[in-house]
Amino acid sequence: MSRPSWAPLDIDLDRPSGARVYDYFLGGAHNFAVDRRLAEMIASMTPDIGDTMRANRAFLRRAVGWLVEQGITQFLDLGSGIPTVGNVHEVAQHADPACRVVYVDVDPIAVSHSRAILEGVEGTAVVQADVRDVEDIVSDPVVRGLLDFTRPIAVLVLGVLHFVPDSDDPAGIVGRLRDAVPPGSMLALVNVTHEDQPPEVIEAQKLSSRTGTPIFLRSRAELAAQFDGWTLVEPGLVHLPLWRPEVPLADGERPERFGALAGVARKD
Ligand code: SAM
Repeated sequence: MSRPSWAPLDIDLDRPSGARVYDYFLGGAHNFAVDRRLAEMIASMTPDIGDTMRANRAFLRRAVGWLVEQGITQFLDLGSGIPTVGNVHEVAQHADPACRVVYVDVDPIAVSHSRAILEGVEGTAVVQADVRDVEDIVSDPVVRGLLDFTRPIAVLVLGVLHFVPDSDDPAGIVGRLRDAVPPGSMLALVNVTHEDQPPEVIEAQKLSSRTGTPIFLRSRAELAAQFDGWTLVEPGLVHLPLWRPEVPLADGERPERFGALAGVARKD
């Protein structure tokens, strides 16, 4: 196939990428046939997955908008994926053009696409790093060059810590992030959960453990522990569509159908 202008030269167009599959579910244009085929396969096994991803992105938009209303202008987006449909800097800079956003992802494909998309976009930067390497991230010269660590920073950890096994202490990662930012900083976090989920979701998780990127579904109690030392803002840790919704849930809609919990918290 011919290479679209937005696709970096080092990207293999014949291998699916998790970040582009996610982009496809969001209705984005940064994906290829190979990604779409994989997405359709996943959707045939877990029909609610597309809705959950879109609900996650809608949460991101509401949370970032709310954070800017609270006076936050600095964002550290960890596990950012490809910044396409409704990305953080567009939402934040629409509300306040002074907002600055550093996107961090471990996946070289996501990073490569991000660099291509964000080239020349004021107030943004991209860093390739693993969320587990908190100290490297917060001391990275690109991060320090854009974000002022003497002023509040919103740390976004959306849909990323479910790729981190318990043995790597996800709650400890969030704790180290808390220690790295000043008081008044905020945390937004989303993680998939196994609570109230149908058997096919649990089966899909088992399948994922055979891939290079297993997913770890977590209980409400495990996710609440990730907020240790932070103060959750209303409405607390809730299913994605229940966090400060702009419109009421449709009649008969079950919030548990969106198999992820979300919360926003403050460092006092
Ligand atoms: N945060 C975005 C959102 O919520 O819309 C994108 C979420 S996407 C489902 C998950 C992203 O996390 C992927 O781009 C993946 O490469 C990244 N990721 C997975 N493990 C990671 C790690 N250990 N460190 C940094 N990023 C990671």
